[in-house]
Amino acid sequence: MAVVQEGGCLCGDIRYQTSAPPVRVTICHCRFCQRFTGSAFLVEPIFRQQDVAFYGASPQRYAHRSDSSGKRVTLNFCARCATTLCLELERFPDILGMCGGTFDDPNWFDRRQCRHIFTRSAQTGVMLPAGVELYEEHALSLDGTPRTPTVLAHALLVARPG
Ligand SMILES: [Zn+2]
Ligand SMILES: [Zn+2]
Repeated sequence: MAVVQEGGCLCGDIRYQTSAPPVRVTICHCRFCQRFTGSAFLVEPIFRQQDVAFYGASPQRYAHRSDSSGKRVTLNFCARCATTLCLELERFPDILGMCGGTFDDPNWFDRRQCRHIFTRSAQTGVMLPAGVELYEEHALSLDGTPRTPTVLAHALLVARPG
């Protein structure tokens, strides 16, 4: 697998290049990610800031205050086609959460050892896999203490009563 990978927005005005594998891959089921993606969850490979370079047009930014941490989460999106490319997290200033679907090859990074967070708001019909770390909320509590994950023996289909 090539170390250098590329991605960009729908219209091509913004392109980026990553020069290292992600430090981890998070699948986020929080309502913020559901709303800005308009989908069920965000596949979010996390990179060190210095491992991502942007080219072309400057992204527009929208800062949102997280209702769980109170910190800013800033979406970087294309002014022309509205694709969101990455999230900057005030809580974790050294990293960028990339929007995994914007890579030219969205399957290049290894997501077998991903972790799923905010599973409490996972949508009906989503399958939570066995053998990976699942967290009901964030993997770290607000004071930075790691939370204990759940690891399922069998995959679980999210279902809601009614
Ligand atoms: Zn664009
Ligand atoms: Zn999220």
